[in-house]
Amino acid sequence: MKKIFLPFFLCFFYSFIIVAQDNLKSQIESIIKSIEDEYYETYKYLHIHPELSLMEFETSAKMAEHLKDMGFSVSRNFSGNSLVGVLENGKGPVIMLRTDMDALPIREETGLPYASRMVKENADGNMVPAMHACGHDMHMTVWLGTLKTLVQLKQQWSGTIIAIAQQAEEISAGANRLIEAGLFREFPVPDYALAYHVNAELPAGSIGYYPGPIFGGVSSVDIHVYGYGGHGAMPHTTIDPVVLASRIVMAIQTLVSREIEPFQPAVVTVGSIHGGSKHNVIPDRVDLQLTVRFFEDKIYEQIIEGLKRITRGIALSAGLPENRMPEVITLEGLTPPVANDAGLVNTAVLSMEKMLGRDNINKVNPNTVGEDFGRYGRTAEQVPIALFWLGGVQHEKYADHIENGTPLPGLHNAAFCPDFYPTFRGGVAAMAGTMIDLFNE
Ligand SMILES: [Zn+2]
Ligand SMILES: [Zn+2]
Repeated sequence: MKKIFLPFFLCFFYSFIIVAQDNLKSQIESIIKSIEDEYYETYKYLHIHPELSLMEFETSAKMAEHLKDMGFSVSRNFSGNSLVGVLENGKGPVIMLRTDMDALPIREETGLPYASRMVKENADGNMVPAMHACGHDMHMTVWLGTLKTLVQLKQQWSGTIIAIAQQAEEISAGANRLIEAGLFREFPVPDYALAYHVNAELPAGSIGYYPGPIFGGVSSVDIHVYGYGGHGAMPHTTIDPVVLASRIVMAIQTLVSREIEPFQPAVVTVGSIHGGSKHNVIPDRVDLQLTVRFFEDKIYEQIIEGLKRITRGIALSAGLPENRMPEVITLEGLTPPVANDAGLVNTAVLSMEKMLGRDNINKVNPNTVGEDFGRYGRTAEQVPIALFWLGGVQHEKYADHIENGTPLPGLHNAAFCPDFYPTFRGGVAAMAGTMIDLFNE
């Protein structure tokens, strides 16, 4: 009797789960259908009204309005323009969902009927063109759509949502300020923190994931190279910092190629070199500006140590004394890598596959762009974080790109614009499905 009953029971139990999942999927899809036109209007409003880093006043007000309408308790201006919305819905996990809000000082050339014509004040008080060339308008809209879906499905999950609309991602300041202002002291500490970034190479509505550091760390480094200046006709009476700086630029090319292990991605780029004022004057000093990209802290430390050693070695070989040694200065505002929690990513991928089908969920390679979302995972609370790529490329353009190699405008390009409807649908379905599964774990 028991032997017959158990398989029957299991069969019944699993088919119940499958029905429940199919049910959830179709419920989410029908909510998306009912809200997508309204959010297209929100998206266009945000796209037409971009605001630059630290200047997201109206955008932040708009996000607060939406959240209040959904029943969130909203703390506005938490460390500047960032806001924190909290929705408590019974016992369960605390899940943070973050969007960023800032635009870029770029003149839009998308040709869209709702292209931005805005000239906006930046944080330094200058008027510059502004555009959502990094897709943060799409992030906000998908974030709102996801929250709205979760609110409408309140009976299906229990726990707490922490909704973060963050200022100043582009200058890597927003996350840091939120954390320093006491994000994890004033509000419940999340069990998971999630975010998207729109992707300019993946088809609209598909997801790109990586179960580990998905975005590199970014650090700006200044190097001051000193010498002894003098007459250009009498170099033997000088120590020429132009020559030293040139040797330094060449020598540091071996840092990544000869000193970092081959399976550790890293970049050291000298983006600017400035020194001297005239043809026949050997200057006292030359300045270099570098960007360094890395995926692990120990590699970053190795690079900085290498820069100090190489520059010092070259200065010593030129006969400079201790008080004229080069200075290697790491600037404030380092963006750490976005170190995705592998377990969280893999769990989310299962939910996303249920929502969008396996073909639309792709493992991607890590990328050397910077994103300050990584900071939320590096505090003492050790919150597991996961950032996903959300494909934004119109399907016809994607096919043309694959077949004919037609270039696609990348992020931060004046012609970049995601394809709203499929991006919104995929983004909301994948994230709402993931969050409900995490709540019910
Ligand atoms: Zn950006
Ligand atoms: Zn961005």
